Amino acid sequence: MRGLLTLKDLKEEKIIELIKYAEKLKRGFRISYPDKKIATLFFENSTRTQYSFQVALMNLGIKVVDFDTQLSSIAKGETLYDTVRTFEALGVDGVVIRHSKDEYFKELENIKIPIFNGGDGKANHPTQSLLDLMTIYEEFGKFKGLKCCIVGDISHSRVAHTNIEVMQRLGMEVYISGPEMFNDHCAPYLPLDEAIEKMDIIMLLRIQFERHQEKMNMTKEEYHEKYGMTYERMLKMKEKAIIMHPAPINRGVEIADSVAECEKSRIYKQMTNGVYIRMAVISDSLDGNL
Ligand code: ASP
Repeated sequence: MRGLLTLKDLKEEKIIELIKYAEKLKRGFRISYPDKKIATLFFENSTRTQYSFQVALMNLGIKVVDFDTQLSSIAKGETLYDTVRTFEALGVDGVVIRHSKDEYFKELENIKIPIFNGGDGKANHPTQSLLDLMTIYEEFGKFKGLKCCIVGDISHSRVAHTNIEVMQRLGMEVYISGPEMFNDHCAPYLPLDEAIEKMDIIMLLRIQFERHQEKMNMTKEEYHEKYGMTYERMLKMKEKAIIMHPAPINRGVEIADSVAECEKSRIYKQMTNGVYIRMAVISDSLDGNL
């Protein structure tokens, strides 16, 4: 299959190459594909991923076909496969898809046009991970030996699962922290206050209530107190350490309002980098490399 479905398909050298290409685009390099059209199919809510893909497409001179799931024939029972096959028949050059089903793309093996995965269930979020890696690389100029702790709702997070696999492959030391009920043992666990003092990167996650089968056993205030990035915790981080979050952020829950835009926060830089990473991925694919 063409495009980018999971980072597991990309070798470490290719990941670095895409980051370097995104940095070049960020410095002002321009490339244009005026005859191309790409459709964005978001079956789950999205602000950053959906619109940064759209901005990336516009920056590349590509026409955006914005698919509205509410007004489409999905409501008449049409399957994901038949929807994507339709866009292919219409002559669209690629599709960006977000879907709540883990590995939805396994149903799309007959599709020939590139598919760019904007997130599948709890499994993969490849462009989010690439933009996270770009932000880390800009900050530290390397991956090997860096220590990162991902904090919060690990078990329901495609961001955590994608990042842990790729960060370990790039030689980073990755840990998880947060409530025991969200610990799926996909990386070694560290108590939060120990992580705060030792890590180069603290990556916070939103509590993914929409995926929970059971009710969380604490209030949002208790969560903030026990597992949130409070102002006091931020002050205990290493001098050069940074705070990341894929967003949407819930101020006062996983992150204090006063910390969200503090000097250690790279949250808005991650969003900016997301546009360039998505430009790099799409351009590389239209050039026949992905
Ligand atoms: N935006 C990220 C995702 O799509 C994280 C989140 O929604 O909390 O997985």
